Amino acid sequence: MTTLVKSVQRLTFEHKLVLGYDTTMRFSQLFTKTRHEAPKDEVSKNAQLLIRGGFIHKEMAGVYSYLPLGLRVLKKIKIIIREEMNAVGGQELILTALQEQKIWEKVGRWDDEKVDVWFKTKLKNNVELGLGFTHDEQLVNLLTEYISSYRDLPLYVYQIQTKFRNELRAKSGIVRGREFVMKDLYSFNRTEEEQDEFYEKIKVSYMNVFSRCGIADRTYFTFSSGGTFSQYSNEFQTISDAGEDIIYLDANKRIAVNREIMDDKVLSDLGLRKEDLTEEKAIEVGNIFKQGTKFTDPFSMSYKDEQGEKKSVVMGGYGIGVTRLMGTVVEVLSDERGIVWPVEIAPFQYHLIELGGANPSVRERVLATYQALTEQGFEVLYDDRDESAGVKFADADLLGIPTQIIIGEKTLDEGDGIVEVKDRKSGEGGYINIQEILQS
Ligand code: ATP
Ligand code: MG
Repeated sequence: MTTLVKSVQRLTFEHKLVLGYDTTMRFSQLFTKTRHEAPKDEVSKNAQLLIRGGFIHKEMAGVYSYLPLGLRVLKKIKIIIREEMNAVGGQELILTALQEQKIWEKVGRWDDEKVDVWFKTKLKNNVELGLGFTHDEQLVNLLTEYISSYRDLPLYVYQIQTKFRNELRAKSGIVRGREFVMKDLYSFNRTEEEQDEFYEKIKVSYMNVFSRCGIADRTYFTFSSGGTFSQYSNEFQTISDAGEDIIYLDANKRIAVNREIMDDKVLSDLGLRKEDLTEEKAIEVGNIFKQGTKFTDPFSMSYKDEQGEKKSVVMGGYGIGVTRLMGTVVEVLSDERGIVWPVEIAPFQYHLIELGGANPSVRERVLATYQALTEQGFEVLYDDRDESAGVKFADADLLGIPTQIIIGEKTLDEGDGIVEVKDRKSGEGGYINIQEILQS
């Protein structure tokens, strides 16, 4: 039976701080309700399930609000990303969404012909502003005030921030938003070699992020177009029917090529053979770019080396679609009953289901269990509602919390300290002593 007990990280002080201390929740207090049907105009699976579970609210196509359950998931994904970015030396900051025209003109990206996703707005005096769809220009402009010497480099900064993009099509739920959360990290190095070293490191941290979010087994390092001064850029593509990209995958080598650049020359370049590749739909959950001096030169971002010689700063950009990642997890890990959250990003680790709470002995056992779990630092959603077992089980399966703990009159007959547990993913279940969880 011990296989039913997952290894769950207890909430640390930092986690509680980020999550706002509320480690537990009574279902009856949650203002969101589960729904049988998603809105008629919502065609994507991720948004349908997230709306039905009360994780998000659709404002309009491509624009979603995050409700308490959804926000918990989002915060946990951000914790993971922060831990991984800090581990490679990233310093977190946050830049503004409102940006000045003149900054964007430096690299020629203010023009609507060049950038087709702009949202622009105006001050009262008619001066135009842009709502940031990325932050390369603004960050380089800012950092020119701080970087002047080789001693200031390397520098790695990142933010987790809301981007605005007037996407032509926004039919993929939170996988393609018009307002969405992105993690964007930028590297500033003295030399290309120094950047190459960092590039290798961040590849690993990206896979760590995807692994902790439960999708590493179907996420592939992919070669794509672009990159200034480097032949390719790289994407992290997650195989999914909901994907908008087509990739050609070598499953043995665990690398893929985006259709955009697929040709014989590229294949021979990468040492791949056509007959080893399968065509797959995939979602781009992240990408990494070597940008050379495309942004740094126009802003005259340079440094003096040890000999006092002036040199250009070598830059890179590294994105993860944070809300897209959440949507991708839902797309690829859900089943016919609902969402299946990986334990590290689940809104709660345990879903405590009370059956027949009108019976005082049941209520007493449930409350004792709830308290014991809470005191141990576990996060618990307690379904204290006066609903049928069928409704509660269906809701629990829809919400996708990894482990369900069920207590009813039948459980009491099994003896002191015994609870029924059920694994959301496998459906496997049985009776265990609650101590097995408390001491896990
Ligand atoms: P796509 O080709 O899907 O439009 P992109 O190449 O425009 O993506 P970037 O500008 O490099 O993407 O952004 C970095 C990351 O942000 C992407 O890898 C993706 O995960 C995420 N992202 C991009 N656009 C969106 C969007 N509209 N909604 C949600 N996430 C997005
Ligand atoms: Mg795009």
